[in-house]
Amino acid sequence: MAETVYPVPAEWAQNALIDDARYQEMYRRSVEDPEGFWREEAQRIDWIRPFSAVKQTSFHEADFGISWFTDGTLNLSANCLDRHLAERGDAIAILWEPDDPNKPERRITYRELYEQVCQFANLLKSRGVKRGERVTIYLPMVPEAAVAMLACARIGAIHSIVFAGFSPDALAGRIIDCDSRIVLTSDEGLRGGKKVPLKANVDAALSHCTSVDTVIVLKHTGADVPMTEGRDIDWATGVSGQSSDCPPEEMNAEDPLFILYTSGSTGKPKGVLHTTGGYSVWASMTHEYVFDYRPGQIYWCAADIGWVTGHSYVVYGPLMNGATTVMFEGVPNYPDASRFWQVVDKFDVEIFYGAPTALRALMREGDEWVKKTSRKSLRLLGSVGEPINPEAWEWYHRVVGEDRCPIVDTWWQTETGGIMISPLPGATALKPGSATRPMFGVKPMLVDNEGIEITGAGDGCLVLTDSWPGQMRTVWGDHERFFQTYFSTFKGYYFTGDGCRRDEDGYYWITGRIDDVINVSGHRMGTAEIESALVAHAKVAEAAVVGMPHEIKGQGIYAFVTCNSEVEPDEALRKELVQWVRQEIGPIATPDVIQFAPGLPKTRSGKIMRRILRKIGENDFSNLGDTSTLADPSVVDNLIANRPQPA
Ligand code: ATP
Ligand code: MG
Repeated sequence: MAETVYPVPAEWAQNALIDDARYQEMYRRSVEDPEGFWREEAQRIDWIRPFSAVKQTSFHEADFGISWFTDGTLNLSANCLDRHLAERGDAIAILWEPDDPNKPERRITYRELYEQVCQFANLLKSRGVKRGERVTIYLPMVPEAAVAMLACARIGAIHSIVFAGFSPDALAGRIIDCDSRIVLTSDEGLRGGKKVPLKANVDAALSHCTSVDTVIVLKHTGADVPMTEGRDIDWATGVSGQSSDCPPEEMNAEDPLFILYTSGSTGKPKGVLHTTGGYSVWASMTHEYVFDYRPGQIYWCAADIGWVTGHSYVVYGPLMNGATTVMFEGVPNYPDASRFWQVVDKFDVEIFYGAPTALRALMREGDEWVKKTSRKSLRLLGSVGEPINPEAWEWYHRVVGEDRCPIVDTWWQTETGGIMISPLPGATALKPGSATRPMFGVKPMLVDNEGIEITGAGDGCLVLTDSWPGQMRTVWGDHERFFQTYFSTFKGYYFTGDGCRRDEDGYYWITGRIDDVINVSGHRMGTAEIESALVAHAKVAEAAVVGMPHEIKGQGIYAFVTCNSEVEPDEALRKELVQWVRQEIGPIATPDVIQFAPGLPKTRSGKIMRRILRKIGENDFSNLGDTSTLADPSVVDNLIANRPQPA
């Protein structure tokens, strides 16, 4: 397949913070002289006590350890708030758009945010919250969620955000895992016009975990919710009378900042722990360079704060950089499929960062929803969460960005704290579907199954050979699991779990998770490639491919296909799709089974859970594994009920 290359637009090459020559020079220095590079780069944040040691890291079992800027001290909330007050106190920090477009937006200045954070921090302190203690946050996408995060960071408490859509059981599991005695929530959440009973979920969760003695409840929808005497506190009442002055706690660089559980795409979610100094440097640096961010620009990352993207690129990265960050409570298709672009027009958003799953869903509804909005303010688009298939990339570029906006396809993980492989808009020519080149300090390597390095162009498992400041430091409560999960498969390297191809230009193409590689008659194939071919068909909206046992071929190809909204799938289409894939990739990729599916099992962050589809492909429904992060469990029952029998 011929590759299209999109060169860096001239205005971007001239005006961006980093052009190609600068990228090359900075990258070279970051890997040849990491001490020097990071000593300088770390000056972007305010340290209370400067660090002397930069990097003490080893991925080897004998002297395993990851520590950055070890003897430095700082406070992240002060880096997000206090230091902007003198010059940017009246600038908007958070621009909040409610679920219902007819309700008023909120504009919160840096000074107002500072005051709210201090007051809330004082409320936490008055409830006895101490440095190092875990605070569970189960809040919708409202500014108070950011206030709560920053207040924890201010007093040195460790936050653990649980996506406000998870079930009481999933919430209870996370409260118990990190042994938290305080939960922050609201009466209800609101998404796409539907109410989510958050307080009721907390009450149900707490019937399993008695460790919790304090629940702070924000009035959001105003629903009448029962309050437990002595345990539950109304947010506004608790805050009123608190001083709006709360000196930031002096934190060590390696003090824990937050715990966040991974999406659960591959198994039981892991409690990823990030620490203060390295994470701050990484989130701030990547936000500035990848989005070419200058203060004053309106920036919108459409992720939920329940995901790491929300942590690093809705709250911490942008606020450290003095940004105006848009926070959106709703969903892309409510009240209709124009909503994202209406919000872009409403706030004159310049930089938009979203997920392929949302883009594919919008693409499926047709171009008119996009075209009836202006979007003239947009300059740059971003993608995160999954490989973006070239078809969706082209649509994003052509229809949403009107061929004017570069797209940064950012590959990273909860574990990495921030963006690891991504184009820089002023430096990198783009290839649809490729995350392109490594960020400063990131040393990717491809290895085969035996751990032998693949040099030059090739395909393999993606590992990282050296530490970067934003790296996770442990799995909460299970340091052994941390080592085993990430450092034992390929000795001496961090194993990402993702497969990857490197092309002749040194560009990286994430091919999906290693577990998703299938072996058909001895040919190894990434499922992403077959999915991409299916999605390139005009009638297909989304596809997920898994392996299934096959007597002759070893593994056969089982494809789940969701069609565009107006299409009625039938036998003729099934045959057409089989032919289509044969033509696009070759006979080796011929699907053995195509199951038309009205919906696919996805995590709440929109990732397809292929491990469940694999079970369906194998005709084994006995043990579907951890499904607590599934968005809609009924999708699975439907797939099982309608599983076609292979011919
Ligand atoms: P778990 O680790 O619990 O199975 P998860 O891996 O889905 O869940 P996240 O940390 O949210 O949890 O997701 C990181 C993964 O998402 C990456 O390892 C990769 O597979 C995928 N990913 C993220 N961004 C991209 C991207 N731009 N291109 C390709 N894949 C991406
Ligand atoms: Mg993962």
